Amino acid sequence: MDFSLNEEQRIIQDMAKEFSDKEIKPYVEEDEKNEHFRKEIFEKMAELGFFGFCIDEDYGGNGMGFLEGVLTIEQVAKVHTSWRMAFNMQCWGPALTIQKFGTEAQKSHYIPKFVNGDYIGSFAMTETDVGSDVSAIKCRADDKGDYFLINGNKMWITYGTITDHGLLYVKTDKDAGARGITCFIMDYSLPGITREKIHSKVGLRAADTAAITFEDVEVPKNLVLGEVNKGFQICMNQLNTTRLGCAAGSLGLSGAILESSIRYALERTQFGQPIARHQLIKEQVTNMKMDHEALAYLVYKSAWLKDHGLPNTMETSMAKLYGAKSVVHAANECMKLFGSFGYSEEYPCGRYLRDSKQFETLEGTSHMHTMIVSNTTLGYSENRV
Ligand SMILES: Cc1cc2nc3c(=O)[nH]c(=O)nc-3n(C[C@H](O)[C@H](O)[C@H](O)COP(=O)(O)OP(=O)(O)OC[C@H]3O[C@@H](n4cnc5c(N)ncnc54)[C@H](O)[C@@H]3O)c2cc1C
Repeated sequence: MDFSLNEEQRIIQDMAKEFSDKEIKPYVEEDEKNEHFRKEIFEKMAELGFFGFCIDEDYGGNGMGFLEGVLTIEQVAKVHTSWRMAFNMQCWGPALTIQKFGTEAQKSHYIPKFVNGDYIGSFAMTETDVGSDVSAIKCRADDKGDYFLINGNKMWITYGTITDHGLLYVKTDKDAGARGITCFIMDYSLPGITREKIHSKVGLRAADTAAITFEDVEVPKNLVLGEVNKGFQICMNQLNTTRLGCAAGSLGLSGAILESSIRYALERTQFGQPIARHQLIKEQVTNMKMDHEALAYLVYKSAWLKDHGLPNTMETSMAKLYGAKSVVHAANECMKLFGSFGYSEEYPCGRYLRDSKQFETLEGTSHMHTMIVSNTTLGYSENRV
């Protein structure tokens, strides 16, 4: 593996940083406070091609791959972690999954619209009673001949109140477990759908989250993605990609925490010298720095493996798991390093801590990723592409 970035990768990295500093930074605190999804930021991201990584140029892709994608997500998440979600909801969730499993008609209709931001995307597995065990999904689609009839609920759906179209995983054979799941490219304008925004989340406050109810929703058959009852494989494939987006988000947050901690440690004086001179502060900064570098390696390596079509489920889980562990630890240390000012809203330490906790749950909990890494390491399961 080559450890240097090429010129194109540096350009996209710089562009993402410049964009985030100019277009996202001024609104961070206001949007956090108001739990506001700022559509103008989303549109500008789309205009810059941020939702086109790994997408064929025929469908509006930007000609770049996973590594360029994670470099971009990292810069955006460093400024406001909520915005890391947009990459998964548009590009690595719906668009890329449709590119892999869709018919030509589905690809040419949907992918360009997710990439250019005409459609706000989403993906929905989780339900009130179903989380980690995706095979237990209860929301069901009954075959009515010309159409499917969908009934049930989805919970914790990112962009749930604003999504136009997104991947929806439901049961088409209630007794078949994982073999009874089908993926639909759901049209959220159909009658029978109710959405309710979930307020007061601990973090990710500028990323909309909703509970959705489906009541006798008639869905045309051409909205099935792939084959009926083959949705579980689609779901696992999608998660293996969106998890990388999640890990890249944790890397961005880790960078923000590290930089803020260094700045404060050099500025704040106690006992006649910058606190950075005290050995215990040095140890905190050292651990943050090492964790950050190790996480960067795991995230970039997973992206590189994906770009080269090599097995990567374990490496992606390691990046996701390490991101969760290290960033929660770093956010906690950051607040300690800032002393009482860390506990005030004047500094972003509280937001860092709140946002860090998402990484332990979303896109598979840390327990689930521990199982994936351990089972692959022990030879109980295969490392897949
Ligand atoms: C802000 C936010 C946004 C989200 N966005 C989306 C989205 O867009 N789409 C979507 O589908 N979902 C979304 N989710 C849901 C998220 O993916 C799930 O919450 C997550 O998969 C865990 O499910 P759960 O909360 O039901 O926990 P559960 O599965 O009930 O788990 C509870 C606890 O038990 C542990 N556990 C469960 N099974 C085992 C086991 N076999 N061994 C050991 N431990 C176990 C878990 O690790 C966890 O600690 C979102 C959640 C949040 C908070």
